[in-house]
Amino acid sequence: MDQLKLAARNGRDKTIIQVKHVRVGEGFVVIAGPCSVESEEQILATALKVKEAGADMLRGGAFKPRTSPYAFQGLGLQGLKLLEKAGRITGLPVVTEVVDPRDVSWVCEFADVLQIGTRNMQNFALLKEVGKTDKPVLLKRGMYSSLREWLYSIEYILNAGNPNVILCERGIRTFETYTRNTLDISAVPAMKELTHLPIIIDPSHATGRASMVGSMSLAAVSAGADGLLVEVHYRPPQALSDKDQQLDPQQFSRMMHKLRRLVHFHQQFSEEKQSQGET
Ligand code: PEP
Ligand code: MN
Repeated sequence: MDQLKLAARNGRDKTIIQVKHVRVGEGFVVIAGPCSVESEEQILATALKVKEAGADMLRGGAFKPRTSPYAFQGLGLQGLKLLEKAGRITGLPVVTEVVDPRDVSWVCEFADVLQIGTRNMQNFALLKEVGKTDKPVLLKRGMYSSLREWLYSIEYILNAGNPNVILCERGIRTFETYTRNTLDISAVPAMKELTHLPIIIDPSHATGRASMVGSMSLAAVSAGADGLLVEVHYRPPQALSDKDQQLDPQQFSRMMHKLRRLVHFHQQFSEEKQSQGET
């Protein structure tokens, strides 16, 4: 992979990405919120709950890349305004997906982080466009993409002038159908060897099942991930998209308790290993 001039690790220090007061790549960062922004009540109620449980950033889609053209497509501009308002009220930076190169510049007025979804990982026009902005980009792995292909997509963004890319492993397609996708947890240590950028795990899209999100989140900590992107909805059964995988606020709060204990243990464990000269 000799053409990875900017993305390759090559002895570089780990990159830390500043999103307002949050530093991604240092400690363990949790991004939480609904799959889609659906209404003012829904996003505000959910934002307050995830903040209370200790989330560091708020997520919510306003443009939804749905498999069916008849499924809910998101609220667009109205959704972005509601997300921004929820971010302002809670003090949480906001993450939202952009799907069209023509929308990038104006979406920047509302978002703190631009998400590129799995279906657009190789939308090179979109990668170049977000690469021209000064907003951090959260680049999801394509559901059919190898790590090599992912690295070249990262290179597109860096090469366009934006050094702030956060990676997100969200599961890949395999022959397994019980889970929505198969979480490639080994992508975490692999990408840490290959690149200097932070990597987080999305256990919601990886499993498609709320009951499995907690255990995969703990696995993310143990694998050395820099954080999580997790879907939380104030009333999951009523969600307009991805209702089976969204946690309710109580489930999220319980998960955060367990997570904090494991993060603490993991930090001590890493420090011990470092002082003993292990990697
Ligand atoms: C999402 O984060 O809601 C989303 C659509 O994710 P993905 O692109 O991973 O399917
Ligand atoms: Mn979703």
